[in-house]
Amino acid sequence: MSDQSQYNTDTGTDIQTQPVQTDSADQVPAGQQSPSATNNTSMVYCNTCGKDMARLAESCPSCGAPNPLAKPKQSEKSMVPAALLCFFFGALGFHRFYVGKIITGILMILTFGGLGIWALIDFVMIIVGSFKDSEGLPLKR
Ligand SMILES: [Zn+2]
Repeated sequence: MSDQSQYNTDTGTDIQTQPVQTDSADQVPAGQQSPSATNNTSMVYCNTCGKDMARLAESCPSCGAPNPLAKPKQSEKSMVPAALLCFFFGALGFHRFYVGKIITGILMILTFGGLGIWALIDFVMIIVGSFKDSEGLPLKR
């Protein structure tokens, strides 16, 4: 009796390494662009009613729809100085003056930052990125 055992060692696995391209897409507006290139003109077409309006107009003069091209995504103000101002002078509302919220800033002085609670809430909001400026835009990181 012959005991023959065959070992099939299949080493046919080729590992092909593909070069990974890191696609750094920085601030590409998602969709909502007309196929016809309107780069030279300062007029764009409203997405809602189709009439043309100024590119920098905040809203369509015809139907009142907000213009996504004109509205910046972020505030011009940054998080770090706002957080620092709120940390050191939060009860005096400095961070609210910084982002342009003058009225609530004055209110904050009068209430001494809501006895510190309001200022503390603002500080947390700034840190987590939920704090908005006077135009309702999130602060830059
Ligand atoms: Zn419109």
